[in-house]
Amino acid sequence: MPRRFTLPKLVVATHNRGKAGEIRTMLGAFGIEIVSAGDLGLPAPDETGTTFEENVTIKALAATRASGLPVLADDSGLSVHALDGQPGVHSADWEGPARDAKVAMQRIQEELARRDVPRTDAARAATFHCVLALAWPDEHLELFHGTCDGSIVWPPRGSGGHGYDPCFQPKGYTRTTAEMSDAEKNAISHRGRAFRMMVEACFR
Ligand code: IMP
Repeated sequence: MPRRFTLPKLVVATHNRGKAGEIRTMLGAFGIEIVSAGDLGLPAPDETGTTFEENVTIKALAATRASGLPVLADDSGLSVHALDGQPGVHSADWEGPARDAKVAMQRIQEELARRDVPRTDAARAATFHCVLALAWPDEHLELFHGTCDGSIVWPPRGSGGHGYDPCFQPKGYTRTTAEMSDAEKNAISHRGRAFRMMVEACFR
């Protein structure tokens, strides 16, 4: 049985403003006081894992040990099937030191072109992953993995969302996630799905 979350305050362990904003919006209905790892001045640990699950565990445990508070951490990324799943857990690294997603999207396009990958949705299939970890101060952890299937489009389109959203078109849609409202994106996104699994398991 997953552990129920009944505490009044939660640290959101991300230094990514786009992700923190989405998580704050999704947690809004629960009357929990949210503080971010950035607000508390918590350092971002090195993400040395090779899976989303390993990295989110590193982030969640580092933040709960440093703050003594319960933590919600997110590790996420985009896996492009024709690139053997890259950038995957290295999605943030591909954005470079300036954390510029345009650089990362350009690199995906260049790698696809270099491998002569046709411009069809099937050939350019990609999956967004999000693993959420809810960590209690006694280091009990609950993990939730959400995915969103789609394809890479070029050129990028739209100004909403964050990160790789302008080059990702979810399966069954003709718009990228950067061309959707926050609510529309949350309804189908990897993070929205992981979040609903967590709410079902721990907040109801
Ligand atoms: P993390 O902070 O190490 O988990 O890195 C996540 C990476 O995946 C960052 O480069 C984000 O821009 C990207 N990413 C995660 N979720 C999304 C999303 O919902 N839209 C676009 N990019 C995302």
